[in-house]
Amino acid sequence: MTSGGDSPGMNAAIRSVVRTCAYYSVESVGIYRGYQGMIEGDFVTLTARSVKGIINKGGTILKSARSKEFMTEEGRKKAYENLIENNIDAVVVIGGDGSFTGGVVFNQEYNFPIIGIPGTIDNDIYGTSHTLGYDTALNTCVEAIDKIRDTASSHNRLFFVEVMGRDAGFIALNAGVGAGAEEILIPEENLGLERMLESLKKSRRAGKSSSIVVVAEGDRTGENVFELAKYVEENLPLYEVRVSVLGHMQRGGSPSCFDRVLASRLGVKAVELLLDDKTNLMVGLKGSDIIATDLEKAIKGVHSINTELLRVSDIMTT
Ligand code: ATP
Repeated sequence: MTSGGDSPGMNAAIRSVVRTCAYYSVESVGIYRGYQGMIEGDFVTLTARSVKGIINKGGTILKSARSKEFMTEEGRKKAYENLIENNIDAVVVIGGDGSFTGGVVFNQEYNFPIIGIPGTIDNDIYGTSHTLGYDTALNTCVEAIDKIRDTASSHNRLFFVEVMGRDAGFIALNAGVGAGAEEILIPEENLGLERMLESLKKSRRAGKSSSIVVVAEGDRTGENVFELAKYVEENLPLYEVRVSVLGHMQRGGSPSCFDRVLASRLGVKAVELLLDDKTNLMVGLKGSDIIATDLEKAIKGVHSINTELLRVSDIMTT
């Protein structure tokens, strides 16, 4: 099943789980709409052929949902009864940390085998260097910022571009470096309004007539990206300031090759762990290896950003 926010690569992971099951002669069932579908018994039998033509599709063919009912004991009881009634022995949950928390609670109550596959564009999950969808989202952002730069430089404008990332700056930091942003503002580091102004003044003195500032949704430098833009416009009248919020387009689109390959590898590992009687684990990427991390550790651990990239970004704006 897929649960929580959708991300590109979820379909490729569904395909991989189903085909790995078929390879090992294990039957597989798709659960629609995450935990809500589990509670309602919204299941579909999947075969190797049912997952054809989806590796390149964004979103999730199984749909996704957030289920309040699964947060209750009665909800989880209904879900358990449906799984047993349908002869389901284990569940692979493709989602974010909320979905894994639900899985851990469910496992504690019913001792039901669960394996997690990290699927979220935010990349904020411990136990994997990359979550499914993150690489695609980065490419989407870089492409969008490149286009914004065309108009910024034609009109000598300063653009504040807001990207997703309420608690983590992975997208902002990497897309910012990749798109050559002058400043990158992330939730993990509040560099302050004054420092940002100084940096923009410096760029101006260095002869730059247009600039791009990439701001993560959860950045704390200002109230929000519009307030930031207003502050800069008031204090740096030389610049004509504009704001662009990339929004949900970052979550959609055909997954990158990286995400498709990662999804395929994670799906195989998830099924093989279950066949090996392993449970309560999340599969992830470490270096070039696929590894398994305790699900609880994956939820509680912190995936820290690479601050060296901030230094690289500073040097690049010289
Ligand atoms: P995203 O990263 O996109 O937000 P997520 O998997 O973290 O994805 P959530 O909405 O946090 O998304 O969680 C998905 C679902 O998991 C919830 O709607 C709920 O059904 C279930 N869930 C989350 N936390 C718990 C919990 N403590 N107990 C039971 N179920 C939970």
